[in-house]
Amino acid sequence: MNEPAVRVLSLIAPMTQLNTPYPSTAYLTGFLRSRGFEAVQEDLALGVVLALFSGKGLQLVHDALERLPASARTACTEAYAQCHQRYAETIDAVIAFLQGRDSTLAHRIASRNWLPEGPRFAALDAYVDDDGGDPLGWAFGALGVQDRARHLATLYLNDIADVLRDAADPRFEFVRYAESLARSQASFEPLAQALAAPVTLVDRTLQDLTLAALQRHRPTVVLVSVPFPGTVYAAFRIAQTIKAGRPDITTVLGGGFVNTELRELSEPRVFDHFDFVTLDGGERPLLALLEHLQGRRSVQRLVRTFMRQDGQVRRVHFAEPDVPFAQVGTPTWDGLPLGSYLSLLDMLNPMHRLWSDGRWNKLTVAHGCYWKKCSFCDVSLDYISRYDAAQASTLVDRVEAIVAETGQTGFHLVDEAAPPKCLKAMAAELQARRVGISWWGNIRFEKSFTPALCRQLAASGCIAVSGGLEVASDRLLALMKKGVSVDQVARVTKAFADAGILVHAYLMYGFPTQTEQDTVDALETVRQLFAAGCIHSGFWHRFACTVHSPVGLDPQAYGVSLRPLPRGSFAKNDVDFVDPTGTDHDALGAGLRKALYNYMHGIGLEADVREWFDFAVPRARVPRQRIARALARSPTAS
Ligand code: SF4
Repeated sequence: MNEPAVRVLSLIAPMTQLNTPYPSTAYLTGFLRSRGFEAVQEDLALGVVLALFSGKGLQLVHDALERLPASARTACTEAYAQCHQRYAETIDAVIAFLQGRDSTLAHRIASRNWLPEGPRFAALDAYVDDDGGDPLGWAFGALGVQDRARHLATLYLNDIADVLRDAADPRFEFVRYAESLARSQASFEPLAQALAAPVTLVDRTLQDLTLAALQRHRPTVVLVSVPFPGTVYAAFRIAQTIKAGRPDITTVLGGGFVNTELRELSEPRVFDHFDFVTLDGGERPLLALLEHLQGRRSVQRLVRTFMRQDGQVRRVHFAEPDVPFAQVGTPTWDGLPLGSYLSLLDMLNPMHRLWSDGRWNKLTVAHGCYWKKCSFCDVSLDYISRYDAAQASTLVDRVEAIVAETGQTGFHLVDEAAPPKCLKAMAAELQARRVGISWWGNIRFEKSFTPALCRQLAASGCIAVSGGLEVASDRLLALMKKGVSVDQVARVTKAFADAGILVHAYLMYGFPTQTEQDTVDALETVRQLFAAGCIHSGFWHRFACTVHSPVGLDPQAYGVSLRPLPRGSFAKNDVDFVDPTGTDHDALGAGLRKALYNYMHGIGLEADVREWFDFAVPRARVPRQRIARALARSPTAS
C-alpha cells in the first residue's frame, strides 16, 4: 500500500527580524530533507514588509489614511499626508538600497535633501553635535556615507511604519505584531476576538501572501513557527486563512513561544486553527507526526503533542529519545529570498547593529546550555536544560555546506551560551581546514576564555561576543548562580577586547533584593569596565520573573513572593512578584540607560555616576580603581 505523500511548508510568521531569516524554518527544512521528506519554506514576515513598503503598498496606506476621521489623525499621519507623493516616489529605491542592490544611492540619501523627513528624524537633534551642525558627524565621520544613509533610510521606514500603525493597524510594529494579544495572556479571548474582527490592511496582505504560498508549494502540511509573542497573532491569521480555503491541509504550531508559554495549554479554540501543537525541540515530535499522517504511527504514539479530541485538549507523549544534535542535519536557506533582506541601521549601538544589519547565517554550536544554573533563566525547560553538543568536524561540515549554499561567510551562533570547549575545537577545525568565516555569538564570561584562547577565536573569525555581567555585583551574581565574579568578567572581557573582538555585556537591574545602592555600585563597575576598554557595548534589561525559572519556582529562596497568576487556559510565562526591599527600579532605569548610551560613545566616563540620575542617589561604594586592580592581578599566563 502506498503511503500518503507528505509535503511540508514551513512559514515564518510576521514580525521577526528583517535583515536575515529567523532560523527555525531553515533548521526544520534542513532536518526534514535529511530524513527524505519534501520540505520547503517561506518568510511571510519579510513578505508583508516588502508588500506594504512599496509604491503599491504605500498607495493602500494612503487610501486608509484618507478614510481616517479627523479625530483619529496624528502628527505622524499629518506629516505623511503632506509628503505622500514624495514617499511613493522614493520607497522602491530606498528598499533596493537597504537590500544592497543600489549602493550609490547612499550619497543622495545622506544629502538629506532627497527623502522626506517625518517625526522620527527629530531624534537626530538629540545627538551630540560637536562639529558645527552635523548631528551624525560623531557617529559616521566624513566618509561613513553608506552607514549614514542606512541610518537615515531606517528612520524614513520607521516614519512609514508609524503611519501604518496610526492609519491602518494599531498593532503594527517593525519587530512585533499584536504582541499584547499573546504575551503571558492567560485567556485566549482577546486573540479570539481579534481573529473574528474585520481584517486590517496588514491582515489582508498576510492572507494574500499565505494563499500565494499555498498555490506555489501545494503543501499537505504547514508548520508555523512562533519564536516570540509578537508573531502569534499573525500565525493564527495564517492558519485561519489556510483552514478557510483548504481545511484538508494539516496545520501545526511550534516554536519558542509554545515551548515557554503554552506548556499548560487547555484552550480548545486554538484547534479551530491548528490541528497540532508541538512542544520543545521540534525534530522528534515532527517525525512522529509526519509518520502518523502517513498512516505509519497511531495517534497514541505522538511525541509532546497537543490536539483536540471530543472538544477537549489532550496532550500525547509517547516517550522517545530526542534526535541527537549531531543528527539534526544542516540548516538550509533554500527557497528564502536571501537578496531581499533589509540591512537596517536603527540604534547606534555596536552590538545591536550586528543584530539588525547584514545577512548572517545562523548556526547552533550545541543544543541547550552547558551551565544551566542561572536563577533568572528557564533552566527547567528543554531548550536550556538538554545540553547536547556535536563534534567540531560536524559543525565545520555544516559551516562549509552553508557557505556553499548561500555564498555568504558571516555566521551568528545562536546558542544561549556557546561552550568554550566547543568553540576552541571549532576554531581549531576552521583553522585546520582554512575555512574563512566571520562569526559572533553569546558566551559566558568564564575563566577558560584565556587570552590565548581569545586570540585563537579571533584568528578563526570571531568578531564579537556577548555575555552576561547582569547585576555587576558579586553578592547578586552569587545569588543568581551566574558562576562568574566581577573581577573575572573584567579579565575575560579584556582578553577578548585585546584580541580585537567587540564585547557586549547583558546588564540587568531589578533582581530580587537589589537595593538602590547595589544599582549605583553596578553602574560604577560598568563605568570602569568601559573606561578600561573591557567592554564596548551593553544593554540594561529589567529583570522579569518567569514561572519556569528558579526564582519563579522557589521565590522564598530569593526573598520575594509571587502575585497569584490569573486562572487561564492559554499562555503562562511572566509572573509579578513582591520584593520587600522596595527599591524603585523604574525610577533608576532611565539614569542607567542614559549613562550606558553615553559610555558607548566614550562620553562621561570620568563623571561621578550619580550625575546620570535625576534624583539624589547614594555615592558608589565601589573603589574607583576596582577594575584596574582586577586587571593588574590578571594571570600572566597567556
Ligand atoms: S542565563 Fe545563559 S548561561 Fe545562564 S543558564 Fe541561562 S543560558 Fe545558561
